[in-house]
Parts: sequence; structure tokens; C-alpha cells
Amino acid sequence: MKKPFYRQFKPGRIFMGRLHYGDDLLESLVKFCEDKKIKCAALWLIGAVQNANLGYYGQKEKKYVSCASLNKKLEIAGCSGNVSRKDGKVSVHCHVVLADYTGRAYGGHLLSGTMVFAAEFCIRELKGRDLNRVEEKQTGLPLWG
Ligand code: ZN
Repeated sequence: MKKPFYRQFKPGRIFMGRLHYGDDLLESLVKFCEDKKIKCAALWLIGAVQNANLGYYGQKEKKYVSCASLNKKLEIAGCSGNVSRKDGKVSVHCHVVLADYTGRAYGGHLLSGTMVFAAEFCIRELKGRDLNRVEEKQTGLPLWG
């Protein structure tokens, strides 16, 4: 078993806030992090969306093989993710669990085009060396390294 790759951080600022109706969920988180100069963070979010675009990564194909476009009003039952750097820019990586009116859940990798109904976020900044995403051969994913 290989040792995990990791970095150790010190706590930075903590932001609690909400996004607005009609915002693009992912893009508005990226913009917020750019505006606040957040380079590394852990984030959580709850709320509801007017629709959703979710990605699924094909492990064999080594690329996102599908985008589930859900044209439904859904609760954000859970959204967690992180903020790091890729190609010198902010990279926000989030996964969501979304529930419909029956309680049925959908989940996946959050993509642009998911529009906010209401969303409350908590972003916990982490201070230390930059955490950069670089292409990793085995998975084809831009992973920390
Ligand atoms: Zn993902």
C-alpha cells in the first residue's frame, strides 16, 4: 500500500453565505473564490436547484462519459467539495446528492449549467502551499500532486 499524497494546512477564513436565484451553482462558487482570493478550501452547501447537470467519469474511458441533464426541481441534500489550483486558476470540485419530491436521489460530479433556486454555503479556507491539480496517468484525472 502506498502512502497517501497529502499536504498539511492551517485554518484560514471561514465564509458562510448564500447564492442567488438563477446563479450557475458551480460558476458562482468559482467566482466567489476568485474574488476572495481563496486558493485552497473545503466546502459544503445545501439548498435547491432548478435543474442539474451531473457528470459521470468513465474509469475505462478515462473521461467524463455522460452528462445527466436533469430538468427537475431538486433539493440539494448534500454538496461537498474542495477548492484547489489547476493551471494557475481556481478549481472547484464538488459532488452533489439531489433529491426529488419523492425523496429519490440522484448524484454525481457537479457541472456548469446547474441553476440555483436557493443555496447556502460554508467555505473553510486552508492556508499553506498551493495544492495543484496535474494530469495523473493511471486515472486520466487532474489530481493533486
Ligand atoms: Zn468529481
